[in-house]
Amino acid sequence: MKIFYYTFGCKVNQYETDNLRQKLSGLGYKTTQDMADADIFVINTCTVTAQSDHKCRQLLHKIKKLSPDAVTVLTGCFPQAFRQQAEQMTECDIITGSSKQDIPALIGEYLKDRRRIVRIKDHEKGEAFQAMSNQPSGLKTRAFVKIQDGCDQYCTYCIIPFARGHIRSKPLGDIRDEIAALAQGGYKEIVLTGINLCCYGKDLGDGTRLIDAVETVCSTDGIQRVRLSSMEPEMISDEDIARMGRLEKLCAQFHLSLQSGCDKTLRRMNRKYTCEEYRELCTKLRDTFSDCVITTDIMVGFAGETDEDFAQTIRFVKEIGFEKVHIFPYSVRKGTAAEKFGGQVSSEVKQRRVKELEAVCSQIRQEFLASNVGRTVNVLFEKEKADGWHRGYTKNYTPVKVKAQDAGSWRWQTKNVRITGVDGDSCTAEII
Ligand code: SF4
Repeated sequence: MKIFYYTFGCKVNQYETDNLRQKLSGLGYKTTQDMADADIFVINTCTVTAQSDHKCRQLLHKIKKLSPDAVTVLTGCFPQAFRQQAEQMTECDIITGSSKQDIPALIGEYLKDRRRIVRIKDHEKGEAFQAMSNQPSGLKTRAFVKIQDGCDQYCTYCIIPFARGHIRSKPLGDIRDEIAALAQGGYKEIVLTGINLCCYGKDLGDGTRLIDAVETVCSTDGIQRVRLSSMEPEMISDEDIARMGRLEKLCAQFHLSLQSGCDKTLRRMNRKYTCEEYRELCTKLRDTFSDCVITTDIMVGFAGETDEDFAQTIRFVKEIGFEKVHIFPYSVRKGTAAEKFGGQVSSEVKQRRVKELEAVCSQIRQEFLASNVGRTVNVLFEKEKADGWHRGYTKNYTPVKVKAQDAGSWRWQTKNVRITGVDGDSCTAEII
């Protein structure tokens, strides 16, 4: 039987879908990229915004129209956080939550008598990290590796702690083994991911912390670059920065979740840092790492955000000069503390603020890309040159493309290039 996989949301979800695909392939199920050809659909959901839920419903409608008899599996954060709503989605034949490791058995069970299955397990305090490791696919240069799950922060807007449960971490030895296998399989770059990555190790009870995992991965032969996905600013200590600064393979690209550049809004969000602390962290990172790039997420139009609060965020964004910003409008998530907050902002105002912030961030981004012109940088090439360009990234994740002069592929190769210009969201370069 052929399975079409669709993954919404973050890289953790992507990693888990890849893991499921590998398990199901081992049981003889084939993967198809063609929806019309699929016997089974696996939809790994995200529920971070109302928009994610909406997109999931649209996909389900499309599937049922296209293949009414196909088996549809709904899994991930949406059914875990919103069980009742998920149960009402009668288009789905199998509904499960975070226990994605159960899906192969659930598909087998369903195929016996085609009786609908809804099986969502509650998260429990002290539950173990679901053991999983992905095998090299032989196709890519960069692998995302999930080393942490869950969050106990309860930011007032966020549904994720309900969907993902308490913090739990992958044991250091398992990380070492997985990275060694990925290096053997040809991967050059590793991105460590988690739901709240900086909480890595807190549950292990032996003092292990994220920096220990980073040092372990950096010490793996064959791996050239190591990146970290989103981090919480208040959890990065001076000692962490000093130890990170000694790791040659660690890429100086840090995604520090900001959400708002206004202290009053940060407090209402239950974020655990102030703008001043965030500013100090950026300075320390930029002092420690040359070519340091800082990126972030900003939520616009949180409940109670006034024009002046938003203006503070704009000023803060300009001051920090983020090299890239992911901007998204706040949407109320049922069951969170902020659902009951007064001062909800209208969608027109949110959209206006999103556009205003986008314009500011886009200008900073273009200035950053242009500031690279004339520099010599080292690029790890990733993509085949289907459109006539070799494409890759510098260590600080600046996209670079070089006009292809030969027939060969540069994928997996690192080369020094000179930046000659900017084209859209990429630097152009020539080989030296
Ligand atoms: S740190 Fe806050 S925003 Fe991030 S997953 Fe946890 S609760 Fe959500």
